[in-house]
Amino acid sequence: MGNFSVAIDGPAGAGKSTLAKAAARAMGFIYVDTGAIYRTVGFAAKRAGIAPDDAAGVTALLPGLSIDITYIGDTQHMLLDGEDVSDWIRTPEMSDYASNVSAMPAVRAYLMDMQRQMAERYNVIMDGRDIGTVVLPNAGLKVFLTAAVEKRAARRHLELAEKGINTTFEEVLRDMRIRDERDSNREAAPLRAAEDAVILDTGDLTLEESIQALLDLIQARMSEGGMV
Ligand code: C5P
Repeated sequence: MGNFSVAIDGPAGAGKSTLAKAAARAMGFIYVDTGAIYRTVGFAAKRAGIAPDDAAGVTALLPGLSIDITYIGDTQHMLLDGEDVSDWIRTPEMSDYASNVSAMPAVRAYLMDMQRQMAERYNVIMDGRDIGTVVLPNAGLKVFLTAAVEKRAARRHLELAEKGINTTFEEVLRDMRIRDERDSNREAAPLRAAEDAVILDTGDLTLEESIQALLDLIQARMSEGGMV
């Protein structure tokens, strides 16, 4: 029997990575954070002195890039030319770079195989924007995680503060609205729920309730498919 894949999509700050990571740990699945891969391309562009919206420049950079996903324990790390850049890709500037380069069709095509290979090799919980719609259209379960933008911005603001990154709530809210807008309205793989996705609104749920809701969905789907 093939592997079981869970696709989790949704806007920034909906809790995708936190929930996916917790559910992957509980299920013994590999968690794949695809946003980190786009961030790594953004980081490579920045390092090469290419502006985030320079599609020709970024496209020309792709053939020479060496990007790998590796795991230390169950934590995903991103390697760029063999160097662990995981700590460098989390800043607001890299969020903006990632959002820009991810709108470029050449970048999406370049990263497609890497994402599909992970799902071919392992049972995965993969999060992103187009996992259920484009990357893993046959995923065993597709979940679209969402919450009101103010709630998502408040969560992200807290997260950044915990990492010592100094911003105001208003800045985070503004950036999130811009990213939501760009991710949803771009031509290449826009953010939207797959037709067969289960919509999970985490706005009024605690973290524990959200994790449980996700685990319940996974277990129900796997038992329907005779996988457990
Ligand atoms: O999820 P995260 O915030 O790390 O993603 C960074 C950016 O990468 C997003 O704003 C989005 O534009 C892009 N992205 C994407 N497709 C994915 C994952 C992320 O376009 N599958």
